Amino acid sequence: MQKSYKTEINPTQEQIRKINKTIGTCRFIYNFYIAHNKELYNKGEKFMTAKSFSVWLNNEFLLNSPEYLWIKDVSSKSVKKSMENAYTAFTRFFKKQSRFPRFKKKNKSDVKMYFVKNNPKDCFCERHRINIPTLGWVRLKEKGYIPTTKQGYVIKSGIVSCKAGRYYVSVLIEIPDQNEPQLNNFGLGIDLGLKDFAIISNGITKKNINKTAKIRKLEKQLKREQRCLSRKYEDLKKRNNKIKNKMKGEATRQNIRKQVLKVQKLHHKIDNIRTDHINKCVNEIVKTKPSYITIEDLNVKGMMKNKHLSKAVASQKFYEFRTKLEAKCKELGIELRIVDRWYPSSKLCHECGCIKRDLKLSDREYICECGYHADRDYNASLNLRDATSYKIA
Ligand SMILES: [Zn+2]
Repeated sequence: MQKSYKTEINPTQEQIRKINKTIGTCRFIYNFYIAHNKELYNKGEKFMTAKSFSVWLNNEFLLNSPEYLWIKDVSSKSVKKSMENAYTAFTRFFKKQSRFPRFKKKNKSDVKMYFVKNNPKDCFCERHRINIPTLGWVRLKEKGYIPTTKQGYVIKSGIVSCKAGRYYVSVLIEIPDQNEPQLNNFGLGIDLGLKDFAIISNGITKKNINKTAKIRKLEKQLKREQRCLSRKYEDLKKRNNKIKNKMKGEATRQNIRKQVLKVQKLHHKIDNIRTDHINKCVNEIVKTKPSYITIEDLNVKGMMKNKHLSKAVASQKFYEFRTKLEAKCKELGIELRIVDRWYPSSKLCHECGCIKRDLKLSDREYICECGYHADRDYNASLNLRDATSYKIA
């Protein structure tokens, strides 16, 4: 995105002389271009574009009329720009968008000195001064109005103009694209669980992929193939004990290799579905652009020690979810809040704040004495969302 800034400058006498000379030359060239094209037209010759006029001026006119060489004394970029401006005036006329271009009159015209960034030192802007090609450092009247180069802003081009004895600079600045999208004015709490994968405080529940028919079918298939594989191993062991069955043993080994591959492929397939699910969940959650997301600090290691939980936890990829969520949040500027795992998100009543100490894992509904009742995990997600004590990931 480009933005333009205009501010008054405080040029030295020498700089004023140069600016006036440049503007005067540009006006001369502008008028010359119009006059020359008028002449061409009267002679029935072809109209000259800014580019062909420039070539003619340098390669023909100035060679034959050295008395005009002062044209070369000023910024060539600025001179070129005035030809382009005059050309634009003609094209507008040709398109019937405006009348025939008029000559610019001295002191009454809007001719300006154009400059452009050609090398890294050009257009360098500090709080109190700006480096303009052919003029050098020019003092700025209002300090710090134009974003400085040190702040990372790049000036691509600009113009110096004069009005009523005052001088101004107007610059075009490349404003870096804001990658961070606007975030919404709400937060999300996410309760991760074994029954459902995630219960989100906005009312959305993400299913536990392992409870879907697809994964169940594949798991069954995997078990079958694994049993088949171990039978084949048993078979081979027995054969190895009998020397005369050596040849058959080789065939069995071949079979085993095939079976191992079958099992591996199934493992892969299931794993891919699970990872895919995690990615989808993360993307769908951050897509709502909350300003923050709160999750519980999962004690994955502790859960893994629990025989009954370990398989369920591993297969849900909680850790992978957390890592991916963290990365996405960082990318989008969403604050990821981690609540201590001792925070009683499930036991707290979201309505009145009292703690229900006797809440059992089997209690799916949270019912409070205050009259509040809600799905247990949804209640937890609300408490996470509104948690005030947390660390930022
Ligand atoms: Zn309550």
